Amino acid sequence: FRLPEIANEPTRDYAPGSAEREQLLAAVAEMQSQTRHIPLVINGREVRTGTVLEQRNPGNKAQVLCTYDSAGPAEVDAAIEGALAARSKWEALPLYDRQAIFLRAADLTASKYRYKLMAASMLGQGKNIWQAEIDAATEAADFLRFNVKYSAEIYAQQPPCNAPGIWNRSEYRALEGFVYAVSPFNFTAIGVNLAAAPALMGNVVVWKPSQGAVLSNAIAYDVMREAGVPDGVMQFVPGDAAAMTKRVFEHPEFAALHFTGSTHVFKSMWKQIAANIDRYKSYPRIVGETGGKNYHLVHPSADVPNAVNNTIRGAFEFQGQKCSACSRLYVPRSLWPEFRERLAAGVEAIRQGPVDDPANFMGPVINQAAFDKITNYIEYARNSPDAEIIAGGRYSDADGFYIRPTVVVTTRPDFKLMTEEIFGPVVTAYVYEDADLDATVDLIGATSPYALTGAIFAEDRQAAVDLSARLLHTAGNFYINDKCTGAVVGQQPFGGSRASGTNDKPGSPALLQRFISPRSIKENL
Ligand code: GLU
Repeated sequence: FRLPEIANEPTRDYAPGSAEREQLLAAVAEMQSQTRHIPLVINGREVRTGTVLEQRNPGNKAQVLCTYDSAGPAEVDAAIEGALAARSKWEALPLYDRQAIFLRAADLTASKYRYKLMAASMLGQGKNIWQAEIDAATEAADFLRFNVKYSAEIYAQQPPCNAPGIWNRSEYRALEGFVYAVSPFNFTAIGVNLAAAPALMGNVVVWKPSQGAVLSNAIAYDVMREAGVPDGVMQFVPGDAAAMTKRVFEHPEFAALHFTGSTHVFKSMWKQIAANIDRYKSYPRIVGETGGKNYHLVHPSADVPNAVNNTIRGAFEFQGQKCSACSRLYVPRSLWPEFRERLAAGVEAIRQGPVDDPANFMGPVINQAAFDKITNYIEYARNSPDAEIIAGGRYSDADGFYIRPTVVVTTRPDFKLMTEEIFGPVVTAYVYEDADLDATVDLIGATSPYALTGAIFAEDRQAAVDLSARLLHTAGNFYINDKCTGAVVGQQPFGGSRASGTNDKPGSPALLQRFISPRSIKENL
């Protein structure tokens, strides 16, 4: 059979006065006028636990967007047992039946649920219209559709040789047990992929959404149910991360962790899994995408306006709360005066405020803990003799968690803000002497443990080739004359190495391979 044509979901422009902008803003207003209660969903049934938490609008702390039940140990156990009970029937379905469900989920994401998903990501996660669009609408649909395409390619792989009288075959089994999907607040699409990719390959999934994204993730889960994911196959279980995770990792049929979040949490999970290794029926698959300290390296031949524009977008879109966000900058002395002037002016001109006003390019950061952490870095820079704040540096958490986009310049390439992940709207620049380009390139890999994304800006083509080779292991997503964010599914599979993750590349066949356990069959004819 032939799959439907798979292509990237087109983006819309939401121009002033357009029907799409009006419909979206109507969905935003409607969402603000009510407070949805979100129960757990275990085996298709809504479960109340009595422990009710709330998700608030980070741009308007007084506004409760939803309340939700939080899972305790009994619910975690019930979710796991229910998933295991649903497992063999789900795995036995022909691939095309599972593909049909997720293709339908993609269509629902891009059409019927599009504005709801976007509204929830705007209000709950602080995204502007266009950031919500490339996440909850297009990237989510793209993950679902491209996974279907890649799953077909994987199932089509068969051994190249048969000997006389022998027929060899490969059979693609799901993992034996359940997958634990732990998703982050920053991308609704990532939650969708963390749960849907293993499920497409025949696995059952216990999905713990981030407490900062329960509303948008619950709507994504509504999509899964409407698309036909059977009861028990995907359990939606918000709750206290540490307590849930401990319980999950003690189960003998824990088969895989599918994680996006902080490096610290991922490492602690890996240690817990290792400590429990004798309990498990199988060696668990561990797949994680974690932090970054992503760089823009500006070569003396760079087009300055282009490099500045991309730096502003890479550092400050979605308030820098992307694993991929640009957070350190290397600029040659020869270009610095123009670069600095353009960057500071561009940053000071950024409009920031509630995201239901489309004129605001930036919104709030996600919560008080993030606000405190980021503003501590800003104060550290302000009080350091080695640094200067050349734009931004102001903040207020009176109504919501607003931090102005901030540019720091330092004289030390090993300055704290050049080496640690901040996950907020702060970029730190180091000005290098043009003659020291080679030494500066070496600093990039040497001063940070991460290797997620990076970009170089150079009009000199040979310089771009040389830099690309020398920076080989410093980024899993490498950009030439473009910002280091905004990877598109089906075009630039995403992920990094070193402390940034296992680089299994969501949005590629490699990721799906982690969630199958093939069987080789030899038959004598
Ligand atoms: N895929 C996103 C990008 O390329 C980043 C995902 C993340 O922050 O985890 O910008």
